[in-house]
Amino acid sequence: MHILHHAAEHPIYGNEMILELGRHGYDISPGTIYPIFHGLEKAGYLTSRKEVAQGKVRKNYVITPAGHKALIRLKGQIHELTSEVLGEDALIGKKAAKVSSSKHLRRTANSLRK
Ligand SMILES: [Zn+2]
Repeated sequence: MHILHHAAEHPIYGNEMILELGRHGYDISPGTIYPIFHGLEKAGYLTSRKEVAQGKVRKNYVITPAGHKALIRLKGQIHELTSEVLGEDALIGKKAAKVSSSKHLRRTANSLRK
């Protein structure tokens, strides 16, 4: 879920995601992150492309339209859970979340076209 969320914002790669998850307090190794990427790719939620950066081949992962649908569905479930746990106040954020996810959709559509 968290990986899909970041992949919706911009293409991601292994080391970057390891640092990002570390920032959230998760201690993840490359041996853990790559199987997750591969699983999401196999499920059709992410697509990868190779890019040469500083003489090294790096695999970037980008969210697919199916990944976006899954992410929106997951966001809905998280909303339901948070509003139940935190109370109706949490619903105020709902409109903002919708706006930002459609912005993500457009950005992803643009980056897939390139
Ligand atoms: Zn994050």
